Order: sequence, then C-alpha cells, then structure tokens
Amino acid sequence: MSRHLRRLCALVADGFGVEEARNEYLASLDADDGLAVLQISHDEIVAATTARAPVPRCDRCGARLSRKRHRCSRCGLRQM
Ligand SMILES: [Zn+2]
Repeated sequence: MSRHLRRLCALVADGFGVEEARNEYLASLDADDGLAVLQISHDEIVAATTARAPVPRCDRCGARLSRKRHRCSRCGLRQM
C-alpha cells in the first residue's frame, strides 16, 4: 500500500468521507504528490479502508455481522 493510500485511510478512519479525506490530504501536498493522490481511485481507497476495518460482530453472541445488516442473524439482537 502506498504512503498516500495509508494516509487517506487514516483520515477516513478519523471520520472523513473518502472525497473529504482526499481534499483534506491534497491541501497539505505539493503538485507532484497531489497528482499521485488524484490518480488513486475512489474504489481503491474504499477497498483499503474496509480491509483495515475490524469485522463487525454481534454484541450479544459474537456472530459476524454483514456491514449492511443491523440485526444479528443468529440471536436477533438489533445492533447500534
Ligand atoms: Zn447475536
């Protein structure tokens, strides 16, 4: 993973959206680095950030949860 991608992931982890993180990071770079960052695709950033995120698990039974579901499929607990 490039240092640019790592930096963008860190910003997304801090709560920025992908494009917000890119804009924030671009503001701190010179033109050459900025160009490199603009060439990183949105999907690449999303993939890198989701790869780093821990797998969500049910608070009650520990079953793995899919990211889009808000209810545990094993015990039915609604997830916050
Ligand atoms: Zn559960």
